[in-house]
Amino acid sequence: MTERGLENLKSIANTGNAEKCPFCGSEETDYKCSIVDQENRLGYMDIWCNGCKRAFHVSRMEISDGMKTDGQIPDRLVY
Ligand SMILES: [Zn+2]
Repeated sequence: MTERGLENLKSIANTGNAEKCPFCGSEETDYKCSIVDQENRLGYMDIWCNGCKRAFHVSRMEISDGMKTDGQIPDRLVY
């Protein structure tokens, strides 16, 4: 993962909004959080770009209230 990729992830975690794709610059990015442990709001997050289909998977993170947990993760993403 690139350094910009990491910044992108951090920004999503802090604001709940996907940012520009660090690979192709597209703003067509999206993410989905999946809560595994409801009590402690622990889960994982997938972030992807609809432009180039690159994706990140973040395992074991705390999902804050403002973060999006609905939506559909597209097929054929490149992790
Ligand atoms: Zn992209």
